[in-house]
Amino acid sequence: MLTKAKPAPAGEVLENVSHPMERFLRADRLPHIWCSGCGLGTVLSCFTYALDDLGLTDADVGVVSGIGCTGRAAGYLNLDSYHTTHGRAIPFATGLAVARPDKKVVVISGDGDLFAIGGNHFIHAARRNVDMTVICVNNFNYGMTGGQVGPTTPIGSRATTAPYGNYENPFNLPYLAASSGAVYVARWTSLHARRLKEAMIEAITMPGFTFVEAVCPCPTNYGRRNRLGEGLDELKYYAEKSVIKHGADPADADLLPGNDVLVGRFIQKERPTFLQAYEHQILDKQHFVKPQAMQNQNHVRLSGATATDGKAAS
Ligand code: SF4
Repeated sequence: MLTKAKPAPAGEVLENVSHPMERFLRADRLPHIWCSGCGLGTVLSCFTYALDDLGLTDADVGVVSGIGCTGRAAGYLNLDSYHTTHGRAIPFATGLAVARPDKKVVVISGDGDLFAIGGNHFIHAARRNVDMTVICVNNFNYGMTGGQVGPTTPIGSRATTAPYGNYENPFNLPYLAASSGAVYVARWTSLHARRLKEAMIEAITMPGFTFVEAVCPCPTNYGRRNRLGEGLDELKYYAEKSVIKHGADPADADLLPGNDVLVGRFIQKERPTFLQAYEHQILDKQHFVKPQAMQNQNHVRLSGATATDGKAAS
């Protein structure tokens, strides 16, 4: 049976209460625009807790977002954050990562922004192994603009532009990331808050192009059109259907309505990053002087980092 969410009591104001991660948030930008039951708040919260566990400060991290509901994340973070144009978060982040390798660069954006107009940038940043973490909130549609079909909309699902059901084959994001060259690939849902946070820690810690997919409810558009109920109903669905399988082949991670949702850490491996390859091939061989920013590359403190062993987990 579908759950009917109770509206919050009108006019209730909590005095002298602050969010434990308030230092990472721009409280002056709140209340946020995200709908009740949306998974975006959970993902943003996981991200701030990941930064906290890693011992990172606002001086260590740059966050870049594109356009869409997820794109608003950059605006709510009290960090060096950039809300860029549609589909261009990754090229912006590439410039940041190359110019300031002493910083941790994180892209937080949605499935439409990253994999439709931004798809080309994604595959080439992964191929080059540019040192950044991409966190994709996948809610299967363009939520902000009213629920149009997108590059991850499952076959048969309804959208404003697919009233009879989508007939375009969607991307399997972990498979796309892995086959493009990402050195770390994980998928969790917004139900798996602790595991999602741990995946963010692992991804941020690892050198190179790392990818975390966060499957989330969009009750306002995708959920409503596909009769999935409230956000809570989608979380119940994730609880019933999620199958945790670390080291699974990402090719098996297709998301089909009614089927199991494969989650876990699928890929964890090492290969030279973009700047390491540049340093080896160009700077060392041509005897060029290493730029100051590259000399400072390892200064970022990762006090709570989760150890990574460079092997696919089992
Ligand atoms: Fe979240 Fe969908 Fe609302 Fe956007 S439209 S805030 S994705 S529920």
